[in-house]
Amino acid sequence: MADAPQRSRAAKKRWGRSPWTIDFHPLPRSLPEQVDFAVVGGGFTGLAAAAWLRRLAPEKRVSLFEAEQIGAGASGNTGGMVLAESSAGDLPGLGDVLGGFGGTIAELGVDCDLDLRGAWEIGRRGGRKDSPISWSDSATLRVVNEVAGGAVDPGKLVSQLARAGDRLGVHIYEGIRIDDIAFQNPLCLKLGAKEIRAENVLIATNAQSLELSGLAGRAEPKFTLAVATEPLTPAQLEVLGLSSGKPFYTVDLPYLWGRLLPTGGVIFGSGLIDVENWRELADIDIDAGRAAELIARIERRVRGLDPVLKSIGFTHWWGGPILIAEDWSPVFVHHRRSDRVIVLGAYAGQGVALSVYLGRWAAEAMLGLRQLPDWV
Ligand SMILES: Cc1cc2nc3c(=O)[nH]c(=O)nc-3n(C[C@H](O)[C@H](O)[C@H](O)COP(=O)(O)OP(=O)(O)OC[C@H]3O[C@@H](n4cnc5c(N)ncnc54)[C@H](O)[C@@H]3O)c2cc1C
Repeated sequence: MADAPQRSRAAKKRWGRSPWTIDFHPLPRSLPEQVDFAVVGGGFTGLAAAAWLRRLAPEKRVSLFEAEQIGAGASGNTGGMVLAESSAGDLPGLGDVLGGFGGTIAELGVDCDLDLRGAWEIGRRGGRKDSPISWSDSATLRVVNEVAGGAVDPGKLVSQLARAGDRLGVHIYEGIRIDDIAFQNPLCLKLGAKEIRAENVLIATNAQSLELSGLAGRAEPKFTLAVATEPLTPAQLEVLGLSSGKPFYTVDLPYLWGRLLPTGGVIFGSGLIDVENWRELADIDIDAGRAAELIARIERRVRGLDPVLKSIGFTHWWGGPILIAEDWSPVFVHHRRSDRVIVLGAYAGQGVALSVYLGRWAAEAMLGLRQLPDWV
């Protein structure tokens, strides 16, 4: 075994605090010298893939390396709406995302409060006459359609995917940033002066480490934001048209999405910050500059939606990274430099169900049980 890992000293990020709690962290352990499968990135994608690899191949050595803590990227800062398909809609050969997501978490024993009561598309034109929602947001927002979907508790999803992986024998390392990969046989992951050899690698770093994934210049990292209100009473939720508990998102612009919390608070999200380079994501401060402006704008919009919200207080303000690739389609490809490296991510703003669904698929592809999809 190599020496005990040096925890990477990433600057403390100021992305705010989401309402979710991640209550699992792996015990520190020595870094391996060689593994069969290395997974880089401890969000939903990497955690689901790693757990599934061990579930299908318990004899293989599977290690997951996370630069900060599990869920530190988008997954611990997400809204937790689960939706079918992808940001680019249905794609050739994509299959049943929601069914696959539900089946995978059930088989892994992950209880993340999955609630598939449906979701509302809301818009400023073509609203249904019976729309329970009638909000003022540059025009009147009403329900235009109901789609399959719902919500999860993302903190539980991160924690329990990691716990499932740990139980199945995945070695999860936090504070380990992979700097580079040498494309030799076996592959060689580099972290500082240390090296870990791996037969196969999954890169699931989403909007970060784009040189590692080979996505620099091919996909755009962005930062998006959300707030949570203080709890509303059932009567207030009724007035807002939210007593059904269905999450919602606009189908026109300006974009607004949201969902109910178990406390009765409501999350509202909107806004994108552009960055030239993914490294700038780490410098974003939710209390300063463009992020603070966008948070103030969301608060103003929320307070203007309905008189019930005019003086509402907020309990959480936060944001996180997303990655947008060409046509908003997820990236699920072999790395340009090696067929033994798979790159998976770039779900734009719609990756909760998709990341787990495709993470499982990636594990099956790495084991030679399945091909990569047709849409790429
Ligand atoms: C505010 C917000 C709200 C959202 N709301 C929704 C929603 O309601 N519904 C929905 O479907 N989607 C939503 N999304 C998108 C969804 O959360 C993401 O698509 C999903 O979480 C992506 O998971 P991931 O595992 O691919 O990436 P991430 O969760 O970003 O994980 C990548 C991980 O890789 C690690 N990493 C990076 N570089 C390295 C390296 N070199 N070495 C080791 N580790 C590294 C990072 O620290 C990070 O933990 C939202 C996103 C945000 C930011």
